[in-house]
Amino acid sequence: MSLKNARQEAIAAITHFKPTSAPLNYKDTPAHEVFGCNVFNDQEMKNRLPKSVFKAVQRTTRRGERLDAGVADVVAAAMKDWAIEKGATHYAHVFYPLTGITAEKHDSFLAPSGDGSAMAEFTGKQLIQGEPDASSFPSGGIRSTFEARGYTAWDVTSPAYILENPNGTTLCIPTAFCSWTGEALDKKTPVLRSMQALNKQAQRVLKLFGKEEGMVFATGGPEQEYFLIDRNFYFARPDLNICGRTLFGAKPPKGQEFEDQYFGAIPERVLACMLETERELYKLGVPVKTRHNEVAPSQYELAPIYENANVATDHQQLTMITLQRVAPKYGLSCLLHEKPFAGINGSGKHLNWSLGTESANLLEPGETPHENAQFLVFCSAVIRAVHKWSKLLRASIAHAGNDHRLGANEAPPAIISIFLGDMLTNIFAQIEQGSLKTSKQSSFMTIGVDTLPPLPKDTGDRNRTSPFAFTGNKFEFRAVGSSQSIAGPLVVLNTIVAESLDSIATELETATGGDCKKLNGAVQTVLQKVIKEHKAIIFNGDNYSAEWHAEAEKRGLPNLKNTVDALQVLSDEDSVALFKNYGVLNPRETQSRLDIYLERYCKDINSESLLCLNIARTMILPAAYRYQGELANTASAMKTAGKSPDTSSLDTVTKLTGQLEAGIQGLQSAINHHADGGVLAHAKHYRDDVVPAMVKVRSTADELEGIIADDLWPLPTYREMLFIR
Ligand code: ADP
Ligand code: MG
Repeated sequence: MSLKNARQEAIAAITHFKPTSAPLNYKDTPAHEVFGCNVFNDQEMKNRLPKSVFKAVQRTTRRGERLDAGVADVVAAAMKDWAIEKGATHYAHVFYPLTGITAEKHDSFLAPSGDGSAMAEFTGKQLIQGEPDASSFPSGGIRSTFEARGYTAWDVTSPAYILENPNGTTLCIPTAFCSWTGEALDKKTPVLRSMQALNKQAQRVLKLFGKEEGMVFATGGPEQEYFLIDRNFYFARPDLNICGRTLFGAKPPKGQEFEDQYFGAIPERVLACMLETERELYKLGVPVKTRHNEVAPSQYELAPIYENANVATDHQQLTMITLQRVAPKYGLSCLLHEKPFAGINGSGKHLNWSLGTESANLLEPGETPHENAQFLVFCSAVIRAVHKWSKLLRASIAHAGNDHRLGANEAPPAIISIFLGDMLTNIFAQIEQGSLKTSKQSSFMTIGVDTLPPLPKDTGDRNRTSPFAFTGNKFEFRAVGSSQSIAGPLVVLNTIVAESLDSIATELETATGGDCKKLNGAVQTVLQKVIKEHKAIIFNGDNYSAEWHAEAEKRGLPNLKNTVDALQVLSDEDSVALFKNYGVLNPRETQSRLDIYLERYCKDINSESLLCLNIARTMILPAAYRYQGELANTASAMKTAGKSPDTSSLDTVTKLTGQLEAGIQGLQSAINHHADGGVLAHAKHYRDDVVPAMVKVRSTADELEGIIADDLWPLPTYREMLFIR
């Protein structure tokens, strides 16, 4: 039989798949030797830089001190030599515009030397500052066209690295991206600013506890969920190709209900792909650690060891790029969208977050009462922050893709709450009552710096339904979307915790008046107050349950169900003031983000709706007509032969085809309609009119998929995409 459509050709191609590249060899080049080989790391700098220069760079990366301009020339020269030894021909300032992608502009090292020859050149100035033509990146009105350039500035705290290509390599330099007026046009700048704010306020608290331990920084460990499906299917599905998710597709006869996928054996081709992805990431110094099957068929997870949150953010971007770059070598496509397939689990990115110094994790319960009091102060600061600013946290994860996930019963709900675990909840409950007894002792004790009993090391219990969970020595923000940069959620977390620490430090400073003997009592008062005011955010039960939704409402916790509702929080006076007060975003920068993200929502839905129309009209409707024709022919042939045909299938197809035509018309007119007003009005129109019209078209089409003859169906089905691998 000759194969007809793209779908059938895709299936045939998969059975003949052969890997193109030679197998990797870990025997000759073990992973630990490969790790960091393409990074201009401390070791490399130590070897190549004069001692004084190396120390100056270290003071910047470790203590946040300003880098001396004279140092840049020396670093640039060493970096260039290193890069050229590694085969680099170009250097690139890598930056992170508000589209959420990673952008890079490559410049050659070559400079003419005046006598007709050329030499390799890379100056301190070129290292420190670049000028990409950035006029087509969103600026939300910050950058007017006459100053369209914007500039990139070297982020000394995130190491430069080499990106390989079979035909040469490129030296990549992580940078911040700003307008000429110094306003942030990117995701990195506010991360750096929020880390500074966090450090400043955390230092005040540490000082009260008699500690001066060097810089405090946020740490991040982002777990990435993703799907891998065969590339032949990917290209036969215009929706996956253009929107990253399926806009059509009936439920497969087998989904994830067998629970046979989670932690199951990884298919060979997929494992091969993971191994190469990890090897590439090792070279770039990304400390990937864990891999496993996820809950949905063809869904996987990759997690690194945590790092300084700024570096972790850059490494996360590299992880997404690398996953997508390596997959095609194995005939696969990596889907990072939050909801590639309806009806089965979507993908998230669990952002593990803590704060610490080089020697200590400040959210780790300690060995001594003194350490534990300090731990409880930091922990209570997070509780207060998440309660007070829960809407901002919700806004930080709001985008069209994540709307499919939050609130569906497989991802945390849109209601932000904290899972603390029974032990810690119990401790805080006792603090609230002004007394603390351990499980072993029955006598009441005053809580204070010197008297706290040992705290549990790891609460042990895990609650997978909570959007924000304490997991022993860190918090895990689970509502982050899989395609998202972690920068936004990080910025909000760092900033709101900085604000909390500021408030708590001020109270403690006032109460103690510099007398450390008064710290016991002051800590007790503050913790009591915080837990009284903010305990409503703590919930250890099932966040998926209807009871929780009712209970959360009683507690006054916001439930911002979609992107449009959530993003508007950015225009609240409080939000604007928060970012301004901690030097993270000025009011114009905050406003620009709101505009850009709303506009992005409109664009996302707009392109989905246009593609939905296109597929419905050019692929599904024709299949329906053809099948309708076949059934009609059969019926009339039977009539001619004097038999009375059963026309129920024909009637159903005719009915559904009519319904599809009406749905298409409805969607077309929703798209044609233009809402009056600004971007917010447009976004609401997309949410309220266009999205429901798309859903209607899809549900009819999915019904047709269950009826139309298989050989006429044009799109690879869920069963094929998820189970042929
Ligand atoms: P899970 O059960 O959710 O898979 P794991 O114990 O595997 O959790 O750890 C998840 C992530 O948390 C890892 O990426 C790990 O590096 C990260 N993590 C551990 N400690 C910290 C910390 N102090 N700060 C930030 N992330 C951390
Ligand atoms: Mg996790």
